[in-house]
Amino acid sequence: MSSTAPAARQQAPPSDAMLIGAITIALLADLPPASLAAALGGVLVPAGIAAGVVAEVAGLVATPVNMRLAGGPASIYTAASEPSRRAAYILAASRRVEAGGTIDAERTFMRQHLQAARARAGAALDVDAAVTANGTLLGWRSRRDAHVDPICARLDGTNFDVTRPPGGYPGQLHGGTCRCSAVAPFGANSRREPAGAGLRGGAGRLG
Ligand SMILES: [Zn+2]
Repeated sequence: MSSTAPAARQQAPPSDAMLIGAITIALLADLPPASLAAALGGVLVPAGIAAGVVAEVAGLVATPVNMRLAGGPASIYTAASEPSRRAAYILAASRRVEAGGTIDAERTFMRQHLQAARARAGAALDVDAAVTANGTLLGWRSRRDAHVDPICARLDGTNFDVTRPPGGYPGQLHGGTCRCSAVAPFGANSRREPAGAGLRGGAGRLG
């Protein structure tokens, strides 16, 4: 029911979310490298990235995304989020190189991106171990020291449903510096049912 004319819609630049979505689709197609580079070009060149930059970045991101949908629920949920994370990296890397960043610097960023993905997978395995021990309702436990991030401090002592993580799992938040862990649900003896959002204590949906 939009009154926007098709011509005007075409002129609006695609949002980052749309670009990341399109790149994610290209990644999920599991294309051979040359075809992936062409698909990335189809998305990024119209968005203002030079074809040469796309080719360089495409060569850099040839490492397959971890999409192994196996293991427990936290591993599956985490693996499912990796293609869009890689897509966000590809968009950011393309813009950095387009703006004059070196491909050498990007090699470092790509290594960090891969390390972060491995760390997310490791944290997910820990959460799945907690699921095996406690079931799908788990407690969020921070280190409770002076360095705890405000988001983790708010999550500390709450329960979460492993199928609806509050923005990520313990150990995965804020770029992988999260030191939290999944523990047995708090208040297990007098546990009241979480009110829909899976978080105890009326915190609502915390992103
Ligand atoms: Zn944390």
